[in-house]
Amino acid sequence: MIRAIFPGSFDPIHNGHIDIATRAAKIVGELIIGVYDQPLKDFIFSPAERLALVQEAFKNKPNIKVVGYSGLTVEYCKQNNIQVIVRGLRVFSDFEYEFRMALANHRLVPEIEVIALITSEEHTFLSSSTVREIASLGGDVSTMVPAYVAEALHRRLGELSPNKTVTPLMIKRD
Ligand code: ADP
Repeated sequence: MIRAIFPGSFDPIHNGHIDIATRAAKIVGELIIGVYDQPLKDFIFSPAERLALVQEAFKNKPNIKVVGYSGLTVEYCKQNNIQVIVRGLRVFSDFEYEFRMALANHRLVPEIEVIALITSEEHTFLSSSTVREIASLGGDVSTMVPAYVAEALHRRLGELSPNKTVTPLMIKRD
């Protein structure tokens, strides 16, 4: 049985992520969604909150398991008998980033393969940062994230102090 991991920061999870995970879970025996704590980004949700939001999305999917992890993804794979890393591709800029990551991971652990699924057309523009920015400006994100994620976003944005801003679109990759 092939065990795969779909790693990401999921800050927050959106319909583009859910689509990639659902499609990947049809291809592999078990899909582990790895919610990681990447120090290079500013998160608006804590690791535990991001994990809980991802868990809710897949609670009825028998071959999808959601875990939190830190450190190198390939190390997590080695320790947990995971053979494949799944990633999603939207635009050309994603390709360049994913290409470099895949080669770096392959250098570290050659036995682990990377599979990249192409986004579904309706999710091409969708990213966590887009969702965060629209929500922070009072826009409607109900077609982009599950309802409980939209609620969590509005709650969190309401808690943020007025001088804590959400990083504007285009500055960050996701
Ligand atoms: P990371 O910090 O690893 O990029 P993200 O949560 O932003 O974490 O993304 C996790 C994965 O999901 C990445 O492979 C990213 O390219 C993919 N992804 C994000 N948004 C979409 C989308 N709209 N369609 C397909 N794949 C996506």
